Parts: sequence; structure tokens; C-alpha cells
Amino acid sequence: MQTILTGVRANEEPTIGNFLGAYKSMVNLANEHSANSNINMFVPDLHSFTTPIDHSKLYAQVIKGIKYYIAAGLDANNPNIHIYRQSHVPAHSELAWILDCFTYFGEASRMTQFKEKSEEHADAITVGLFNYPILMAADILLYDAKYIPLGEDQFQHLELTRDIATRLNNKFGEDLFTIPAPEKEQVKFMHLEHGLRIRNLVDPSKKMSKSSENEKTKISLSDDPKAAAKKIMSATTDSEGVIRFDMINQPGISNLLTIEALLTDRNIQDVIADWAGQTSYGDLKRKVADTVEHFLADFQEKVANITDEQVEQVLAKGEEYANRVANAKLAKVQKAVGLIK
Ligand code: AMP
Repeated sequence: MQTILTGVRANEEPTIGNFLGAYKSMVNLANEHSANSNINMFVPDLHSFTTPIDHSKLYAQVIKGIKYYIAAGLDANNPNIHIYRQSHVPAHSELAWILDCFTYFGEASRMTQFKEKSEEHADAITVGLFNYPILMAADILLYDAKYIPLGEDQFQHLELTRDIATRLNNKFGEDLFTIPAPEKEQVKFMHLEHGLRIRNLVDPSKKMSKSSENEKTKISLSDDPKAAAKKIMSATTDSEGVIRFDMINQPGISNLLTIEALLTDRNIQDVIADWAGQTSYGDLKRKVADTVEHFLADFQEKVANITDEQVEQVLAKGEEYANRVANAKLAKVQKAVGLIK
């Protein structure tokens, strides 16, 4: 049975970028494949403090992250859907160390996200931040996951995972790890034309990032729905004066069209066709603002109805599965590298 796997870090409040790039892609794939695939959705809580955070809030954020997965539509009663915390499956950290010793400093240094984040946090560039893609490789390889629904920003890390896995397979035997599918195949599997990148509302040349300190740049899942609608109304557009899907010259407008299509479950081409040639950016903004407002109100109501007891039950089932599968793979790797017989 193939495995589809993804996770969203629990350090800050997730945005609609995370929702559309990771949660929703995973829910769509679960609906399509859960009869004959494992659907692994985990909270990478060990990844949460690669940059400084408020640790007194972390535990509650992790539990809220699990509620978000359930509210997004993952049916935890389905025996093939597994929801778990990375830190509660020690094999992740153990495999990460082994993989560290087969990853070259030069290749890890090339990671764009490391370069960007070390500029943002120049006073606290930790070894954890540098190592994080290798822990991510362990997250994926422990479960032989082939498909990893991710936003565009993560494809470089996926490529690194493929390189590390191929290196170990060449050294220790071809069946040690399943090699995750390459970017093109991943995107096709998600029924997308290219990797998804929801844009920053103030500067649409950048991605919407949950770590951005300027609240106007992002829509967080906990935003007041009316306040979120206002952010859409003041999103940066352009001076072309005509609605077109053109990510290079009109990234703000194209971003609004993308958000509208994904949140309403419509084909992006149909949404583009509806608005093609129209000239009122205000009309488009009002429509998207209304869509975002309704989406948030509905999502937040679902989250509020999920109890902590429900989360505990979901995690008990998910973590039992995850430890079983991950420990079996870890033992195989420990044997290959000579740690056990
Ligand atoms: P992170 O914020 O690094 O925990 O990312 C969690 C997931 O959300 C990953 O799959 C990212 O690729 C995805 N993601 C984050 N930001 C965006 C965005 N602006 N557009 C699309 N996907 C995103």
C-alpha cells in the first residue's frame, strides 16, 4: 500500500497559504486515495523551534494544529488515515542522525530556505535550522512515502530527500528506502499545473508566510473573518486595469483568482474565464473577501466543536501506528549501517 504524507509546523498560526498548499491538498488526496493508501498527516513539532519561539505556547499550538487537520476534513476514524506528532515517534530523531552522517555539508548549505531564514534570524542561526531538511528527510523515508503534498517552497527539500535516499540505497541495497516521486510527478498527483504558492497580500512577489510580522501580509486561520475580508480589500494589485491571470506581471490579481478558485473548489481555468477582461478590481476583491470571510467563519466553527478528548483519541491511534511502522524501518536502517545484527 502506498503512503501519502505531509505535515505543517506548529510554531505560528497557519495561514490560508498553509491551508491551501498542505491541508487541503492532503484532504483532497485522502478523499481520492484513502481506500488503498496510507494517509499520514503529522505535526512536525520538533521542527517548531529551529527559529526562536515562545515555548510556553508550543504544546497548545500542537493540539490546535491537530484540530485543524480534523476540521480541514481528515476523517480520523478511517483506518488508513493516521494523525500523529513527530516528537512522539522517537525514530524520527534517530533516523535523522544517521542521515546526517550521509549528507554533505555542501549540499545542505545550498538550501534556499536556510539562506533566507538565516538572514531573517541573523542573531540566532542554529544548527537545528541548518539540519531541518535532514529531519524532514527522515520524516518521509521512515514511512516509505512516495507522495508528499507540499507547497512550492518545499520542493528543494524534497529533492534533497531523494538524493540522500538514493545514496543510501546505492550503498546498502536498493530496497532500503522508497524514493519519493520527483517534483513534476508530485504536482501532477495533486492535480495541479505547478507547485502552489499563495502570495503575500502586501508584496505579491513573495509567498504568504506565517512567520511574517506584518499582519496585513497574511490571512491566518484564526483571523477574525471580517478583519480578514478587509485585508483582501486592501491587498496590493497593479495598475494594468484589467483582470488577467499573469503571475509575472499581475501577481496580486492572479493570487486573488487562485484563492477564490481553491476555496470554492472550482477549477482555476473556470474562475479565470469568469473574470477575463473585466476591469473592476474592486468587484473581484469583494468576491474573494466574501469567500474568505465565509470560509474562516465555517472553519473556525468546526475547530471549536472538536474537543481535547477527541484529539487524544486520534493521537493514541495515530501514534501507535506511526511508532510501529517507523521502528520497523529504523531497525532495517540500523542493521544496514551495522548498529544491530
Ligand atoms: P511550513 O509553513 O513551513 O510549516 O509549511 C507547511 C506546508 O505549507 C508546506 O507544505 C508548505 O509548502 C506549505 N505552504 C507554506 N506557505 C505556503 C504558501 N504561501 N502557499 C502554498 N503553500 C504554502
